[in-house]
Amino acid sequence: MFNFDNQHVIVSGGTRGIGAGITEQFLKSGATVVVTYSGNDEAANAFKDKNSQFGNKLILKKFNVSNTQEVEAFFTEIEKEIPSLEILVNNAGIRRDQIIASLNEGDWDAVIDTNLKGTYNMTRFAVLAMMKNRYGRIINMSSVGGKLGLPGQANYAASKAGQIALSLSASKEVAKRNITINNVCPGFIETELLKDLPEDQIKEYKSQVPMKRFGKVEEVAHAVLFFASKEASYITGATLDIAGGLNA
Ligand code: NAP
Repeated sequence: MFNFDNQHVIVSGGTRGIGAGITEQFLKSGATVVVTYSGNDEAANAFKDKNSQFGNKLILKKFNVSNTQEVEAFFTEIEKEIPSLEILVNNAGIRRDQIIASLNEGDWDAVIDTNLKGTYNMTRFAVLAMMKNRYGRIINMSSVGGKLGLPGQANYAASKAGQIALSLSASKEVAKRNITINNVCPGFIETELLKDLPEDQIKEYKSQVPMKRFGKVEEVAHAVLFFASKEASYITGATLDIAGGLNA
């Protein structure tokens, strides 16, 4: 659909689920992709094997996006491996659902640290790299949950709404340097993130979606590639729902 020849992309949490789908679309469109993950080596190696035809256009790195020192070390390392950075997709994310009265501090911190602080960490260093070339595209994987606020997701909803707020502010700072920052908000997408949901809850959620089904990873990836394209040059600070009609 778009051509990303000679462009270099970072996709955080790109070895599984939505991130893996985004990475594969970028690879097929000519980009070199640095894919990050935090601990699941088995999934990361399987992903690398599956995409072995892309050779050294697929680079894997393991670190925790919420750890500022690790993020800084990652950016120092990849500066030697890719000549420039055009695109960052802040996709790494977790859920630890619990009703507010039972939501412990550990689960609050883990979700805010991964989803929101991770986005801050990665965006900060990416913007520094992109400013040199006066070009960049940053896309945050937020969620309709950040606008609807589903019960049991106070931590997740706050982190996802926070990503949108962060981009509204940061996009204005970097606009004159040709760097855009946008958000996509998937609804329910078929990935391992939802694997712990009980069958009756899945049925209930599907009944709430006007299209009466969960979305596919590729349906999110296509929207991300659009925001990442040169063609999306006048769009920044925007948020797009990909939710089968389940809009806030
Ligand atoms: P997933 O299948 O669980 O994959 C999550 C990815 O993020 C994995 O690669 C994981 O690495 C990585 N990750 C997790 N914590 C990390 C950390 N601290 N540092 C670095 N990487 C980390 O998730 P998904 O369903 O594809 O979701 C991807 C994004 O879409 C998330 O931000 C999520 O909130 C958002 N989203 C998903 C849905 C949905 O229905 N699935 C809906 C709306 C929004 P490991 O493999 O090493 O664990």
